Amino acid sequence: MKKQFAVIGLGRFGGSVCKELYQMGHEVLAIDTNEDRVNDFSRFSTHAVVANATDENTLQSLGIRNFEHVVVAIGDNIQASILCTLLLKEMKVKQVWVKAQNQYHHKVVERIGADRIIHPEHDMGIRIAHYLVSEKIIDYIELSPEYSIVELIASRKVSENTIAKLDIRAKYGCTILGIKRGEKVTISPTPDQEIHLNDILIVIGHNNDLKRFEDEGL
Ligand code: ADP
Repeated sequence: MKKQFAVIGLGRFGGSVCKELYQMGHEVLAIDTNEDRVNDFSRFSTHAVVANATDENTLQSLGIRNFEHVVVAIGDNIQASILCTLLLKEMKVKQVWVKAQNQYHHKVVERIGADRIIHPEHDMGIRIAHYLVSEKIIDYIELSPEYSIVELIASRKVSENTIAKLDIRAKYGCTILGIKRGEKVTISPTPDQEIHLNDILIVIGHNNDLKRFEDEGL
């Protein structure tokens, strides 16, 4: 289903969010004070406008209150990011996601009602650390400090076996959510599904169980 988004601030982070949403077929209003950036994004958004998102009247005239989802990706100007978030929440925008620069910024936008606060460098750093320590990990998503979803490459140890035979849930306490084989993705594979060498297993579990499966099971 097509959704409507507004992205405020078209730096590296906001720009990537904007482009990706637009390429996924959604409607995106792109906003920045910098005219060159706005021009660059005119072909990667539904509308791209030069506007100061800390000005209440400007936000009103852009009809921002009608957007269900707004991403505040204003970079170094923390004051502008905070003011913009405050205005959006006052206008009752349902979902305001904010890119935070530091913990102080995080605390303030949390207090004024930001629905989700993102630390892209911090989060990416954690993901990269996981790729670095294991050749088997393709991707990693932290669900909570204790639980994660990881994508692992199927080794010879598990290949040509069915999920039932490997009994991963009983042995390691983790669950295979899906299997990627080339372009094909099988979600919720049945127990009789056979795993092939170099399949990518999407596995959910407690971090300790996932680590045990990665070290001993693969
Ligand atoms: P990143 O770290 O993601 O690359 P940048 O600091 O480069 O972030 O980009 C932030 C963007 O936010 C810049 O393009 C800047 O012009 C824009 N910006 C800053 N203040 C405002 C504002 N008040 N309204 C709209 N856009 C803003």
